[in-house]
Amino acid sequence: MTPSTEEFQERLDRINSIFTAILDRAEESSLTRCPYRDSQDLCTALFSCRNQVSIAGKPDSFSCSHDGSFDYRPAWESNPKGWKRMQETTAAIRDEALKNRRSSN
Ligand code: SF4
Repeated sequence: MTPSTEEFQERLDRINSIFTAILDRAEESSLTRCPYRDSQDLCTALFSCRNQVSIAGKPDSFSCSHDGSFDYRPAWESNPKGWKRMQETTAAIRDEALKNRRSSN
């Protein structure tokens, strides 16, 4: 059965709401937990980062020394300008999602 226009819009609004919540949580989490830090606090990044600490006897492994008390992203060495662009893109996506949600209510 094909949904009515109103039902379709309700579904879109619901999906929009879900993704907005996911984006908000991901951004909040990303400020204290680096996505390259695994469950055993090892760094899985394939680039240099100031928070990497060598592990004795494991020349190719690093532990993460980030303590979650600051934004770790400026420590990444590969592309600092990319971090700023990512912040701007994330903010634009969130603003657009909020605008869409408000205009549909
Ligand atoms: S060392 Fe740097 S890149 Fe690796 S997990 Fe920690 S903050 Fe992330």
